[in-house]
Amino acid sequence: MKKLSLNLQIFICAAAGIGIGLWLQTTPLESELRQNSLYLFGLIGTLFVDLLKMVLVPLVFTSIAVGVANLRAHQQIHRVWVLTLSFFIASMAVAIILGLTAANIFEPGKNLNLALFHDAMQNFDAKQMTPREFFQQFLHGLFVNPFAALAQGNILAIVIFALFIGIALVAGGDRYRNILLLLQEWLELTLRIVGWVMRISPLGILALLAKLTATQDAALISVLAKFIGLVIGITLLHGVVLLPLTLYLVTGLSPLFFWRGAREALITAFATSSSSATLPVSLRCAEQHLHVKPEIAGFVIPLGATVNMDGTALYEATAALFVANLAGIDLTLTQQLIIFATAMIAAMGAPGIPSAGMVTMIMVLQSVGLPAEAIAILLPIDRLLDTVRTAVNVEGDLIGSLVVNKLIKADHLAKT
Ligand code: ASP
Repeated sequence: MKKLSLNLQIFICAAAGIGIGLWLQTTPLESELRQNSLYLFGLIGTLFVDLLKMVLVPLVFTSIAVGVANLRAHQQIHRVWVLTLSFFIASMAVAIILGLTAANIFEPGKNLNLALFHDAMQNFDAKQMTPREFFQQFLHGLFVNPFAALAQGNILAIVIFALFIGIALVAGGDRYRNILLLLQEWLELTLRIVGWVMRISPLGILALLAKLTATQDAALISVLAKFIGLVIGITLLHGVVLLPLTLYLVTGLSPLFFWRGAREALITAFATSSSSATLPVSLRCAEQHLHVKPEIAGFVIPLGATVNMDGTALYEATAALFVANLAGIDLTLTQQLIIFATAMIAAMGAPGIPSAGMVTMIMVLQSVGLPAEAIAILLPIDRLLDTVRTAVNVEGDLIGSLVVNKLIKADHLAKT
């Protein structure tokens, strides 16, 4: 029998995982079969995520430092920066506008009432944080002792330090070529390990999805079905229509080409709910399947994994309006503009780990005086929603790298 491609294996295992999870839902809660299966799936799933996280820190550091240092060859660092950040901000803005528009049209939560969730909210103690405090904390977290950041896996701080090293390597030129060479070899070495981890990824993805599906609270999902359906629907609209359309318009690449090349990363993001854990896979997809130049992918993808989150931005805005509806508050246009801005900061500030958006969501709610305790309603359904939104977060990074790659190439051609 011909060996199935990794891509296809991942796809089949993801579907099997969801199938097994749904079947486990039908087994009695206390049954030994269910308990043992959940234990086993938990074990395998965690192992897979641990392996990805193991390579994450050396990968982020070397890929950004080497990526920035190699941009020197193009004399285009400045332009890559501007293009990358502009793409990130524009795509998140579109996502938020989509979320706000849909929430205004469909008004999720209008027929429900906060009082319904009184019990859930009572035991919930939301940590208060105003946008100003959040911004201050965000800034404060940027510059950290690199050794502490590396040891703690503080991705944002690692990205910043790696940017400094990359720029210093460019400024120093030939003088530091040994260090650059060393970093380059580290990067190759780490990517080799990523290749090994990917071989077990089908099993890891199966386990993660089986456990996730088996442990969802069906009753709660049916009460909040309209909201869940709306969030998933518009996130998919952004991910399946708007982002691929942008890609097609800017680069001429077909969505099919993109989907084929990005599938490993998108399914991994869906199963792990973590942009950071998916980063090793995204980088591999961008360079090996989507043919983005390594120096561009090495810069855009790790940066995007921490700051570019279309799915999260869209979700935070939609959820804020949902909470307002539950509380019976009509938000004015100005208040919705505040939500627009805070959802953008919240998405940029959220680290790429499961349910990180929930923490920064509190700030969005408080910016317009909505009860932060309402998070208690959103938390139980968050693991479900986090899957699609993380996949779209990662998709945005991959499409960003293709767009920047194309525009830089076009510049290059125009000059020569
Ligand atoms: N889980 C998301 C991610 O890693 C962040 C979020 O909670 O929205 O991209």
